[in-house]
Amino acid sequence: MALKKKISKKAVKKSAPKKSNQLEDSLIELIKNTSAVLPDDVQKVILQALAREEKHTTAEYAMNIIKANIELAKKKSQPLCQDTGTVLFYVNHPVGLDQIEFTKWIHKAVVKSTKLGYLRQNSVDSLSGANSGTNIGPGHPSIHFHQHKKKNIEIRLMLKGGGCENVGAQYSLPYTPLDAGRDLDGVRKVILDAVLKAQGRGCGPGVLGVCIGGDRGAGYIESKEQLLRFLDDKNSNKDLAQLETEIVNTSNKLGIGPMGFGGKTTLLGCKIGVQNRLPASFFVSISYMCWAYRRQGIELGTNKQIKKWLY
Ligand code: SF4
Repeated sequence: MALKKKISKKAVKKSAPKKSNQLEDSLIELIKNTSAVLPDDVQKVILQALAREEKHTTAEYAMNIIKANIELAKKKSQPLCQDTGTVLFYVNHPVGLDQIEFTKWIHKAVVKSTKLGYLRQNSVDSLSGANSGTNIGPGHPSIHFHQHKKKNIEIRLMLKGGGCENVGAQYSLPYTPLDAGRDLDGVRKVILDAVLKAQGRGCGPGVLGVCIGGDRGAGYIESKEQLLRFLDDKNSNKDLAQLETEIVNTSNKLGIGPMGFGGKTTLLGCKIGVQNRLPASFFVSISYMCWAYRRQGIELGTNKQIKKWLY
C-alpha cells in the first residue's frame, strides 16, 4: 500500500505541469515582442524610405505593404513574418553566471513560445528534414554568452529569416573577378557585389552586417553581431564610418529597390566591424538582414524581471 502511494505520488509529480519562473516569463516576453514589433530605429528608417520613394510606383506600393504589415503585427501581437527565422540569443553577463542552467531556461522559453505561436516550428534535422516542432536541436537556438564587468544581465535576441540568410556572402581577398585587393576599396567592391547579386532577394530593403578579417567562422559571427548595433549609431573608426555611409548611398543608386521592384531604397543600413586576420587570409563576411529586422533586448532586474528594453 505504502509503495502504491509512493508510486502514485511520483507519477503525479512527473505529469504535473512544470512551473514557470520569472526568467522564463521574461524570456518569453522578449521572444513575443521581438517576433511582433520592429524596434523604433528600424521603423524610423523604413518610414524614411517610404517617404523617399516616388509616388504611385511599385517601390512605394511595396514599402506601403511593409508599413501595413508592421502596424498589423504590432496591433495583433503576431509574428511580423511567417518565417520567424534562426533564433539567436546574445547574453552579456557578469562573471559567475551558470551558463548551463541559463541555457536550460532559454530552451524552455523557446519551446513554450513555439507552442504559443510566437515562433514558427522552424528548426529541422539537417539530414532527415524531420521537425521536432520545438525549435530545439543541435545549434538551435544559437546562444552566445559574453562575460562583462557590469553586474547586470543583458539579453539580446535576433530572429533572422532564412531568405535573407541565403543571400549572405563571404569573399576571400584578393578577389580577381572584381579586381578587389586587400584594402578598403577591395572591401567596398565585394560588399557592393553582394548587394548586386542579391537583387532584392532576401526581402529587401535590407541591412548589412559586415566583418572584415577573422577566420571564416568568426567573420560570420561578427558580421551578425554588427546587426545588434543601432541603425543610427556611428562607427568609432572614421574610415569604416565613411565606408558604411558610402555603401548605403551607392547601393541606393543601383535602382534595385524594395523586393527588387526598382526604386530608391535597396539598403536601410550597413554596419562594419573588423577582426584580426592571418597574414595569409583576408575574408569579408556579409550577413544580410531583411526589412523584418527583428532584434530586441532586455536588461534583467534582480528578480530576473524585465527592468529595461534595450532598443
Ligand atoms: S527574408 Fe525576412 S521578410 Fe523575407 S520571408 Fe524571410 S523572414 Fe520574412
